[in-house]
Amino acid sequence: MSLAEEMDTVTGESAGSVDRHATSRTFESTDPATGAVVGVFPLHDADAVGSTVEQAREAAASWAALGFDGRRQRLDAYRGYLARRLHELADLVHRENGKPHADAILEISLAIDHLAWASHHARKALGPRRVRVGLLAANHAAYLEYQPLGVVGVIGPWNYPVFTPMGSIAYALAAGNAVVFKPSEYTPAIGAWLAAAWRAAVPDAADAFQVVTGFGDTGAALCRAGVGKIAFTGSAPTGRKVMATCAETLTPVLMELGGKDAMIVDDDADVVAAADAAVWGAMSNGGQTCIGVERVYATAAVYDRFVAEVTAQVRSLRPGSDDEATYGPMTMPSQIDVVRRHVQDAASAGARVITGGTDHDAFPGEGYVAPTVLLDVPEESAAIREETFGPTLTITRVRDAEEALRLANDTSYGLAGSIFSGSKARALDLARRMRSGMTSINSVLTFASVPALPFGGVGDSGFGRIHGEDGLKEFTRAKAITRQRFALPTNVMSFHRPANTADQLARVIGMVHGRHR
Ligand code: NDP
Repeated sequence: MSLAEEMDTVTGESAGSVDRHATSRTFESTDPATGAVVGVFPLHDADAVGSTVEQAREAAASWAALGFDGRRQRLDAYRGYLARRLHELADLVHRENGKPHADAILEISLAIDHLAWASHHARKALGPRRVRVGLLAANHAAYLEYQPLGVVGVIGPWNYPVFTPMGSIAYALAAGNAVVFKPSEYTPAIGAWLAAAWRAAVPDAADAFQVVTGFGDTGAALCRAGVGKIAFTGSAPTGRKVMATCAETLTPVLMELGGKDAMIVDDDADVVAAADAAVWGAMSNGGQTCIGVERVYATAAVYDRFVAEVTAQVRSLRPGSDDEATYGPMTMPSQIDVVRRHVQDAASAGARVITGGTDHDAFPGEGYVAPTVLLDVPEESAAIREETFGPTLTITRVRDAEEALRLANDTSYGLAGSIFSGSKARALDLARRMRSGMTSINSVLTFASVPALPFGGVGDSGFGRIHGEDGLKEFTRAKAITRQRFALPTNVMSFHRPANTADQLARVIGMVHGRHR
């Protein structure tokens, strides 16, 4: 029997904590391609969220007490479970989010890889270590360790409903925290499935990972529930609301927000490879990717060839929900209006629409948007300045890579970006100066698949990091301990110190540090 069947055909009734914190109010999630109901889920109110967090708090103590090895063993069991049921989960992702089954497999595979990395590197990144004591505490030993926060609340989006929350869930669990996860109202079945899978794979720590379902109010209740941290992934406007709510209780926040990522195509770039990457980065997942390519700046030397190549490649794309479709419907129907506004606004400001369009060709109904490429879009247009989150791409001709970098950086966002260049030194220099948390050279999105690399943005793209050692530390507090190994004849931190102690100290400091000019 599939996990979905065990979950009472994904009614959420037996998913995670849901059954034990039942409420009479429910909501449905639907297949964006067909409108069919995927599942019915409880609308958890503040009381239900509070009791879930309380239960997670109790579980957090025993989860932390398992230590790195005990947690690693259980996280390994979880990833084994997910790997064995990969197709089942991919099918659910396809039905509830709309993306092709193959893309769902890619997403889940990435999440499993992160789970493995987090559990296997937690001890090295977070475990107790001795650190050098320095001059003033030479008779002490000093210890540093990274302790869990207790319960971490994870609020996630719908666009990568497995990979994105798992970037927080896996790392928070590996660091010794319990997790309460609030999935998007558009993808609650996937969240409930992940929690039910945890209960099945890790029965002796079942309450360490639980799910609550509902709308924004449920997320806000989680912010107020006294968790040790909120890891939020979503749009910048909602991120501001989440921060304001968390400020009421001084709950720390991790903000993984939207982006307006740019690709730079330099004079000596492999134009065919750059076009292939731009089309994938912009159109896969229907363009509903926080680190998707939204803007391309191509130098005059390659612009015409690049546009021709992108145009040719885009023509082979087809949105749909069948096995041959390259991407699915828009998961959140209201997003279509945002995409339409950006395209129409660009067109009326003089942009050339070379594929897709502003009419029925681009927006054929039933939740689909055709791949749309826009040229000569004025820099002040919404299509350049706001996150579009649809299968669109702007391509702008620039003089050289320096102008490209200036325009790429001229955004309030700063999540990621990519550079195509034939010169390693030049590409690395541009990457370092790109104002973003992550940059791929001669590929797109690759940094997200390297578990050792931190993931996160700057500016309106948020702050804090998931993934890598930084991502593990994000879900901990640093704990500093010193231990006096032997007493010195003179203790500078005592009212009994001799009167000349400070002068002696000043002399020593002068000798050690004073020679540096
Ligand atoms: P939203 O900001 O609309 O929602 C994100 C989550 O917050 C959802 O679970 C939502 O619940 C919840 N929420 C809504 N209102 C509140 C509130 N007042 N208090 C607490 N929680 C609330 O984002 P989307 O789901 O539309 O996701 C798309 C966005 O996510 C894009 O901007 C994208 O760039 C960004 N993103 C960023 C990533 C990153 O790592 N930087 C990765 C992936 C996506 P509900 O759905 O029930 O309203």
